[in-house]
Amino acid sequence: MGNVWIFIEQEGGKIADVSLELVCKGRELAARLGVKTEALLLGDKVESCVDTLYSYGCDTVYLVEDARLEPFTVLPYARAIVDLVREHKPNILLFGATLKGRELAPRVASEKLGGLTADCTDLRIDDFEDKKNNKSYTNKLMQIRPAFGGNIIATIVNTWDDPQMVTVREGVMKMDAPDPSRKGALVRVKPALTDAETVVKVIERVRADKEVDLKGAQIIVAGGYGVGSKENFKLIYQLAEALGGEVGASRAAVDAGWIDHDHQVGQTGVTVRPRLYIACGISGSIQHVAGMKESKKIIAINTDPGAPILSVAHYAIVGDLNTVIPQMIKAFKAK
Ligand code: FAD
Repeated sequence: MGNVWIFIEQEGGKIADVSLELVCKGRELAARLGVKTEALLLGDKVESCVDTLYSYGCDTVYLVEDARLEPFTVLPYARAIVDLVREHKPNILLFGATLKGRELAPRVASEKLGGLTADCTDLRIDDFEDKKNNKSYTNKLMQIRPAFGGNIIATIVNTWDDPQMVTVREGVMKMDAPDPSRKGALVRVKPALTDAETVVKVIERVRADKEVDLKGAQIIVAGGYGVGSKENFKLIYQLAEALGGEVGASRAAVDAGWIDHDHQVGQTGVTVRPRLYIACGISGSIQHVAGMKESKKIIAINTDPGAPILSVAHYAIVGDLNTVIPQMIKAFKAK
């Protein structure tokens, strides 16, 4: 049986958290199957990442270095990965459901390598019985993700040939502590790239004025439709600033144009797990809760004592956020 592979996303030699989360999940799947956990590390001069990958539990790192792999463009990455998959035939191939992963995974899958399930929130190994076709499968990857607007949780099984490919949402898998004493094997690969894969040239990269780091934030103050207006969102920013946190939002607030989509928490936004999440004027729809329920402590401020968010929250403040938030800011500043 083939091994479990993880595509490692890196930027300037810094590995994305989602890739390390997937290495940890990959180890769990590999242990269940009795196979190895292997990383695909592509880029130029990225060997410094290899020890980190071993420390998180990779048995093997395929190091694919080439100047044409920096910065990331999808065609050469897809070519190199497809060639490696054809040669080594992994059983499972995991990508983060990031901008890069969402662009790359379908390109790889479309080379008739196998099926792809996008945006998974959980993975496990199990046997599967296809009653309709009277077939049974052992040790298949159960690919779990919300479907129909988050109203059901679907379990998808790929009965095509391997690899079983998925993209996995950021922040949903647990990242274990690294063990620097772990070591693995390094396999250097020279990609066979042609002019056809290097047609796209990156001319300039422009960074956003202020990048929102919801995934890494320890404290998030999130505002919803109950905030009432773009102007009133300043209350949310003030509370976040007083606590040293980031600003999050519900989709209703984003759709109203009060705040950018980068701030959206939930099924079609970011999944977060901060130490403290303060939900202000957010009702607690299933799609919003999917993105923040793993927060260590949740405080909800809502005028409606029956709002669903209150059943998710550890502490509930039933009241008008326009009164409650200024009092909270005052209290924190007085400390
Ligand atoms: P509302 O549901 O309108 O709630 C506003 C709340 O504010 C109410 O509970 C009200 O009691 C309270 N309130 C009003 N005034 C005050 C006040 N002065 N003080 C205190 N409380 C007050 N939503 C997301 O958030 N993230 C997603 O990623 C997401 N993805 C989606 C994907 C799909 C496919 C679909 C169909 C929907 C998705 N949604 C998502 C939308 C989701 O279903 C809800 O519509 C949305 O979360 C509601 O946002 P809200 O809680 O801010 O607004």
